Amino acid sequence: MMDVLITENITGAPMDALRRDFDAAFEPELWRDPAKLKQAAAEARAIIVRNQTQVTAEILAAADKLQIVARAGAGLDNVDTEAATGAGVVVSYAPHENSLSVAELAIGLMLGLARKLPAADADTRGGGWDRRTYTGFELSGKTLGIVGFGRIGRMVAERAAVFGMRLVTHDPFVEPDSEVLAPLGATWLELDDLLAESDLVTVHVPLTKGTAGLINDDRLRRMKPGAQLINTSRGEIVDEEALARALESGRLAGAALDVRQCEPPQRGALEQMPTVILTPHIGAFTTEAQERVVAAVCRDVAAVLRGDAAQGYFNFPTPKAKN
Ligand code: NAD
Repeated sequence: MMDVLITENITGAPMDALRRDFDAAFEPELWRDPAKLKQAAAEARAIIVRNQTQVTAEILAAADKLQIVARAGAGLDNVDTEAATGAGVVVSYAPHENSLSVAELAIGLMLGLARKLPAADADTRGGGWDRRTYTGFELSGKTLGIVGFGRIGRMVAERAAVFGMRLVTHDPFVEPDSEVLAPLGATWLELDDLLAESDLVTVHVPLTKGTAGLINDDRLRRMKPGAQLINTSRGEIVDEEALARALESGRLAGAALDVRQCEPPQRGALEQMPTVILTPHIGAFTTEAQERVVAAVCRDVAAVLRGDAAQGYFNFPTPKAKN
């Protein structure tokens, strides 16, 4: 039996300390081989994953010594949380440790779109010096539509306010007269009104049955002509084919996507468009966010293995007896 199985490349000082204090197997490529993963999981008291390892019901059923699955990141898409909960296994994750990094990326993408930075950079590197083509616009005075006014949406609002933007938001779980809106200078609107009024729309909702395909053909048609879309939430929330059509027709002036319907994506229409900024799901990839995430999951794994409570738990803080 081993204490901790690490199935992806998760490193840092808290991980070094965990590996010193417990019997740990660092197997950064294990996620690629589900059969080996199942075999190794059967011996582990804790498993630490990022987003590549599929922690399935089958793997959990084989892992009868398992006490905690810790996901070094925000989403739990790759962990069968129902099966883990049924098996009495603590599921721990770090949903908030990278929020600031995602908010800053959204702001960066907004500035990148406003000043056409990637296209201007590529052109200048190619020997160009075409200043007029890269005439941009100021964020100040523009309307920013924030779809999803949770943790990241609010951090974006705080930062965008400093640029002098007018802020409107739509979130069905925030009341139109909620006290969270006024201090951030944001006005609540129905989604269609937000889309019609915003020069830039930034999406910060979780992926659920209700939000998959939220930004579809119909919604894109409701956007203000010449508006731009930023998505740093989950790829499935924006219909990419519909987005490509909206950009090709000139209805939208630009878009920035950190997340894609399929990751990594196939090269398609969006990859050809100079008005589109594409990044490889790097919202959480800052040194600071990664340090916070790794520290949080290592803290929880160490706690559970010592018989204490996890703090960043999804289901319960200590393991339950197996059924
Ligand atoms: P959060 O739970 O704090 O906020 C999400 C908000 O969306 C909530 O207020 C919720 O009420 C709202 N919402 C739900 N359904 C909605 C709908 N149909 N329309 C409008 N609003 C709706 O989450 P967060 O921490 O702000 O994170 C937002 C999303 O960012 C996450 O769910 C995750 O998918 C994504 N994310 C991406 C990265 C990245 O690397 N790019 C990293 C972390 C998180």
